[in-house]
Amino acid sequence: MTDVTVVGAGISGIACAQRCVAAGLSVRVLDRGRRAGGRLAARTVDGHAADLGAPYATVSDDRFRAVVDDWLGRGLLREWTDTFRVAGPDGLGEAKTGPMRYAAPGAMRSLVDDLATGIEIEQRVVGPIPADLVVEGAASRVVVLAMPGPQAVRLLQPDHPELAAAADQPFAAGIAVVARFAERTWPEFDAAFVSDLPIRWLADDGRSHGDGAPVLVAHTTADFGGQHLEDPDAVIEPVLGAMRQALGVGLEPVDVRAHRWTFAQPTAPRDRTFLLEASGIGLCGDGWSEKSKVEAAWLSGDDLGAAVVERLA
Ligand SMILES: Cc1cc2nc3c(=O)[nH]c(=O)nc-3n(C[C@H](O)[C@H](O)[C@H](O)COP(=O)(O)OP(=O)(O)OC[C@H]3O[C@@H](n4cnc5c(N)ncnc54)[C@H](O)[C@@H]3O)c2cc1C
Repeated sequence: MTDVTVVGAGISGIACAQRCVAAGLSVRVLDRGRRAGGRLAARTVDGHAADLGAPYATVSDDRFRAVVDDWLGRGLLREWTDTFRVAGPDGLGEAKTGPMRYAAPGAMRSLVDDLATGIEIEQRVVGPIPADLVVEGAASRVVVLAMPGPQAVRLLQPDHPELAAAADQPFAAGIAVVARFAERTWPEFDAAFVSDLPIRWLADDGRSHGDGAPVLVAHTTADFGGQHLEDPDAVIEPVLGAMRQALGVGLEPVDVRAHRWTFAQPTAPRDRTFLLEASGIGLCGDGWSEKSKVEAAWLSGDDLGAAVVERLA
C-alpha cells in the first residue's frame, strides 16, 4: 500500500508530491508524458530549449516567492522583464509595464525537473480510477489527480460521478508555434500581447532565456487554435504571417514546429485551491485558482499536499 499516488507530473503534481515526501509519506508519481512538466513543456531546437507552454512566472505569494528566490539564487530562473509591447496588424506598438516576469534559461520545465529531484516518475497513461483506489496495480490511501479538469473527469468516470461533476471545468485551447531563424532580423523586443491577428502572444525566446538564440514563439488565440486541434501544422503559415505583421518585417524560418494544447488554460476561476474528498481522491492544478498561472498551480499542489499530510498523519 502506497500512501499517495499522484497522477500528473506538472508543477502542481510535483509540488504536491514534494510536500508529501518531505513529511515522510511514500509517494508514487505517474505521468503519461515522456518527461515531467506538463504545460511547462519545451522543445529543443538547435540546442536551445524553447518554451511551448508558460514562458514565464510571476510572483505574488510569499510561499512561492521563497521557491522563486531559491531558483534565482541557483540560476534556474532569471529576471526577464517587467515590460511587454502591444502589437497588431500594424506592427509593434506601445510598451506596457507590469510585474516582473521570471523566465528560465533552461526552459520552464527545468523548474519541474528541479522540484522532482529524488522523485521517480513512472511513464503511464492512467485510466479510470476504481472505487478501491487501485491505480496501475497498486493500492494507495490517497490518489491525487493533478491535471486540467476535463482530463480529471475522464479518470473519475464512471466510479466517482459526483467528483467528476466537481472537477469539470471549461478550458480554452491553443497552439504554440516555435520558429528558429538563421539570424535575428526583427526589431528588439521581449514579448508582445497581440490583438486583431490569429496570435495573442509573441515572444523572443532567446531574450527570455538570455542565450540570444534566434527563436520566436507565438501562441494562437483560443478560437483559432481550437479550430485546428486535429491538424496543428495547419496554423503554421497563418501564424508566420501574423508574426511578420506584428513585427513589421519579413521572416523566413529555418525550422518551425506547432504544438497543440487541447487544454491550455481554464476559463472559469475557482475560489478554493484544491479538493480532497473523504473517499481519498484529491484534485489540484491551475484550475483550482482565481487565475491560471504557474504560481497558482504550485500553490494548489502544495496546499493539497499539506492537506494530505494532515489527513494521513
Ligand atoms: C500556451 C500557454 C501559455 C501559458 N502562459 C503562462 C504564463 O505566461 N504565465 C503563467 O504563470 N502561466 C502560464 N500558463 C499556465 C501554466 O502553464 C499552468 O498554469 C501550469 O503549468 C499548470 O500546471 P498543472 O500542474 O496544473 O497542470 P499540467 O502542467 O497540465 O500537468 C498535468 C499533467 O497531467 C498529466 N496527465 C493528464 N492526464 C493523464 C493521464 N490520464 N495519465 C497520466 N498522466 C496524465 C499530463 O501529461 C501533465 O503532465 C500557460 C499555459 C499555456 C498552455
